[in-house]
Amino acid sequence: MAHVPDPVRFQRLEEHVWLAAPGSDSGVNVGLVLGEDFAVLIDPGPSDGDHAALLAGVRELSSAEILVVNTHGHRDHVGANEFLRAQGVQKIWAHEHAGVESATDLVSSTPVTLELGGGVAVVLAHLGRGHTSGDLVAGVRSGDEPGIMFCGDLVREGRDPEFHDSYPEEWVRTLGRLWSMAGNYGRFVPGHGREVDADFLASMRRRMQQGCNVSAQAIRDAVNDATKAIPIIPYGPGESRELITRLRGR
Ligand SMILES: [Zn+2]
Repeated sequence: MAHVPDPVRFQRLEEHVWLAAPGSDSGVNVGLVLGEDFAVLIDPGPSDGDHAALLAGVRELSSAEILVVNTHGHRDHVGANEFLRAQGVQKIWAHEHAGVESATDLVSSTPVTLELGGGVAVVLAHLGRGHTSGDLVAGVRSGDEPGIMFCGDLVREGRDPEFHDSYPEEWVRTLGRLWSMAGNYGRFVPGHGREVDADFLASMRRRMQQGCNVSAQAIRDAVNDATKAIPIIPYGPGESRELITRLRGR
């Protein structure tokens, strides 16, 4: 007998915007934006997730054609792409430098607006390098109200940001651009963790700037043992080490 999954439950953030309920397997925040003609699924999750349950959850809310958006190329965000393509999904959007092999449509430096029907739109934008070389944010606005922004791993709540593929000094600037959009967007959904506000973005940016400054100074002072700075970098030892490595490699 075919496996009939319990559908993933989506929690409603706004009239057209949903988030897969926390605790639904992957730890990645899976977003869903529903228009009359199209449903946009943002970061459908890792390859070992329960994709059938995710798809069933979407289908409980909408029968519209599904478009997939990947905020970046890390496996825990894009692993479900192949399953969804096999289920008939024809469009997968990602940044041109995200390295997503299953992507069908690439975003460059020019933002792309996906019109979903019924006045609902999702704007995909690359605000500069940061967590990776190919990060996208996905903004949803309806009317004049401040909208919801899906930020991928450019924003991390509850844990340190991940630096292993990052461009730390550019990331600081990218966070500044994201923060400056706070007039149009009032709610920010990170790739992992709970929703945050503009103040959180500002403090994440300040801390990262401080981390970059301390690390760069340590690299200048002691080229062979910059790791001595780890205790004064405002992150845990593992991420501090990655931050130094990435700053050294620039
Ligand atoms: Zn990531």
